[in-house]
Amino acid sequence: MCCGGANAIANSLVKYLMQERAFSASTTAQRSNNSTTPGSGPKSKTKSRRSPLVLPLGAATVLAASWYALGPENKDESLNDTRFTAFDVVSNEPVSPTAFVLTIRSRDSELAKNSAKLKAAWEHGLWSVEFKQPQLQIARHYTPLPPLEGEDGTEGQLRFLVRKMQGGEMSNYLSRMQIGSQVWLRGPHHGFDIPKRLGDAREIVFLAGGTGIAPALQMVHKLLDTKSADGSANVKPSIRILWANRRSFDCVARDELQGRRKADDEMQSVFLRQIPNMKRKHGNQLSIDYFVDDEKKIISIKDVDAALRSTGAAKTPSTLLPADKSCRWHSAELLAVSMDEDDGQTSDAACSCAQASAGRKIVCVSGPDGFIEAFAGPKRWVGGRELQGPVQGVLGTIKRQNKGTMDDWLILKM
Ligand SMILES: Cc1cc2nc3c(=O)[nH]c(=O)nc-3n(C[C@H](O)[C@H](O)[C@H](O)COP(=O)(O)OP(=O)(O)OC[C@H]3O[C@@H](n4cnc5c(N)ncnc54)[C@H](O)[C@@H]3O)c2cc1C
Repeated sequence: MCCGGANAIANSLVKYLMQERAFSASTTAQRSNNSTTPGSGPKSKTKSRRSPLVLPLGAATVLAASWYALGPENKDESLNDTRFTAFDVVSNEPVSPTAFVLTIRSRDSELAKNSAKLKAAWEHGLWSVEFKQPQLQIARHYTPLPPLEGEDGTEGQLRFLVRKMQGGEMSNYLSRMQIGSQVWLRGPHHGFDIPKRLGDAREIVFLAGGTGIAPALQMVHKLLDTKSADGSANVKPSIRILWANRRSFDCVARDELQGRRKADDEMQSVFLRQIPNMKRKHGNQLSIDYFVDDEKKIISIKDVDAALRSTGAAKTPSTLLPADKSCRWHSAELLAVSMDEDDGQTSDAACSCAQASAGRKIVCVSGPDGFIEAFAGPKRWVGGRELQGPVQGVLGTIKRQNKGTMDDWLILKM
C-alpha cells in the first residue's frame, strides 16, 4: 500500500476516532453529580464503538502506526472532564476506622499538562474530580485536600479524605487500592467561585459534615494560604468552620487544636498535621469547632446563629450595599436557580451591584445530602440540572426569625 493511501485511510480513522470522542463528550454532558457512566471508560468505549470497523490485519497495523505519527494533540491523555485519565496510587493510609487518605500521582507522560490543569483548579479554589469504578461503570465525585506546606499543588499529586460507606460501591473500591494500583479520574470540575461571591465581604461560616471538611480546607488554602492579587494581607477574610462527625475518632486533630496533645512530626498522617499547621499559620482568622453525635454534641440552631453573629478577625465593611437582584455573583434569587458548576463556566461575568462595596458574607454547607438538607434545605432537580433551591432547614429558620439580618449572607449548598 502506498503512503498516500495509508494517509488517506489514517485520516478517515482519525475522523472516526474524533467523532467517537465527541460522542463521549455529549453522553457525559448530562451527568449528575454522582453517576453511572455507561461506556464512559476508555476501555469499554473503544470496545463497543469500534466493533463495526472490520479491517484486515495489515491495514490495521499501518493505520495504527499512522495514528501514532499524527502528532501529540491526538494522543492527549491528560486530565479532562469528558474522559477518564489514569493516575497511580502512591499511598492509602487509614486516619480512623472508617476513613482513609488516598494519595495518587499523575503518570510522568502527562505530568506537564496535568500540572497546568491542577494549577488552574487550585487558583479557582473549590473543585472536585470524579473517580470511576471500571467494573461497575459508576463514577463518584471526590474533593482533593489542599497541597501540603512546601508544595504548590502542581506536583501532580492529589490527596483525598474518603469515608468508607457501609455497602458503598466506590468508597469500598477505593479503600482496597494499594500502592501502585491504577485509578481513573475525570475533571477537574470547578465549583463555586467564592472570592467573586465574597467580594468586599470578609466573613465565611462553613458547616461541614464528615468528609465535607475537604472543601472547607480548600477554601482556607485559597483565601488564607494564597497571597491576594494585590499582595495585601489585610483583605483576607475570617473562616469559621463548624465540623460535625458521627464518632469521636473521626474528629481529626481535635486533641491537637484543643491543646490536649502536641502536634508534631511524630503524627503519622500528613493530613493529621495539616489542620494544626493551618490553624497555627492563620491564628484567629481561622477557627474550627468540633461537634460529635456520639458525645451528644450536635450543631444546634444556637451554634449556627452564634457563628453568624461572631465577629471574626476580619470584619466586613459596614458599607456593604444590598445586592442587585440581577447580579450574577451576589443575588440570592439568582443563586437559588444556579448550580455550583455554573460559576466556573461564567467566570468572566461582571458584578452588577453598586461597585462601591459589593459582595456577600458566605455560609457554605457541605457534606452528605441529609446534612445539607437539615441545615439549608434540599437542592432541586430541574430539567436535568441540580439547582440550589430555596434556603430552608436551620438556616431558613434563622432567616425567618431574624428578618432582614441575613440579607448580607449567601448560603451555598455543596
Ligand atoms: C462534589 C462532591 C464532592 C465529594 N467529595 C467527597 C470526598 O472528598 N470524600 C468522600 O468520602 N466523599 C465525597 N463525596 C461523596 C462521594 O461522591 C460518594 O457519594 C460517597 O463516597 C459514597 O459513594 P459510594 O459509591 O461508596 O456509595 P453508594 O454505593 O453510592 O452508596 C451510598 C450509601 O447509600 C447506601 N445505599 C446504596 N444503595 C442503596 C439502596 N439501594 N438502598 C438503600 N441504601 C443504599 C449504601 O449502603 C451507602 O451507605 C463527594 C460528593 C460530591 C457530590
